[in-house]
Amino acid sequence: MLITSWPPLSPQVPFPHLKLHRYIEAINASRKCCVCLYTLSTSAFPSGKLTAACNHPAAACTSCLTDLFTDCFAKNVASFEAPKCPECAETLSVTDVQRIGGRSLASAYNERLTLSLLRADPDFRECLNPDCSAGMGRGQLHEGGEEAPIVTCKYCSAKSCFAHKLPWHEGQTCEEFDEANAEYRAAREKENQLSTKYMEKKYKRCPKCKAFIEKFHGCNHMTCRACEHEFCWLCMAPYRGRLGIMDFGNRGHYVGCRFHG
Ligand SMILES: [Zn+2]
Ligand SMILES: [Zn+2]
Ligand SMILES: [Zn+2]
Ligand SMILES: [Zn+2]
Ligand SMILES: [Zn+2]
Ligand SMILES: [Zn+2]
Repeated sequence: MLITSWPPLSPQVPFPHLKLHRYIEAINASRKCCVCLYTLSTSAFPSGKLTAACNHPAAACTSCLTDLFTDCFAKNVASFEAPKCPECAETLSVTDVQRIGGRSLASAYNERLTLSLLRADPDFRECLNPDCSAGMGRGQLHEGGEEAPIVTCKYCSAKSCFAHKLPWHEGQTCEEFDEANAEYRAAREKENQLSTKYMEKKYKRCPKCKAFIEKFHGCNHMTCRACEHEFCWLCMAPYRGRLGIMDFGNRGHYVGCRFHG
């Protein structure tokens, strides 16, 4: 807001200790946080935009954003949603959070993100022991699929069945269990089809280190969070290196990619 009269018409006086001309200066270099609704000095806001996709300067103050991040990454909450710009709902990346809230919040974000990507992997199984020592962080990727269906929790050693997503059916193979419980078999077949389709649309594996990568924004130039390998989302061709897209231009995209040329 712009102050042109004294005393100010607004009943809220955020800088009561300042002389009139300093006061006008301060209030003119301030704006309102869209979360706490206080009028604060510009320096209380992150400089620039919250995300590259925002088309407005930061509308929330650093302190409100820090609170928002802390809630988002809280370990005791099972569900996880990436933090969003309070003004336009664009998703903040790990780099955005690091710039605004610092390293420890960024690494908390990274941890939650990794766990949520892991959870979306069809090979991920949560430990079914409610008292598992790993708390909300419990669960692991299982190798061997349905041929080796016993998942032993690496934290508490509880056993569960990979195929049935139930505590291990002691004394029965999966086939024997299916025969005894027909409704489980039908539900299981349907779920297998759904999760594979979902993963293929939303996630890909880094061609170098095989970490799961989630696509946040429209750009097809991806950088792996785990190993920093850069590649094209559509054809998985590398950006760096002798035949990379950086040096080789659009001929670096593989044949069949819509950027290949
Ligand atoms: Zn605020
Ligand atoms: Zn925004
Ligand atoms: Zn466990
Ligand atoms: Zn089973
Ligand atoms: Zn990678
Ligand atoms: Zn490409």
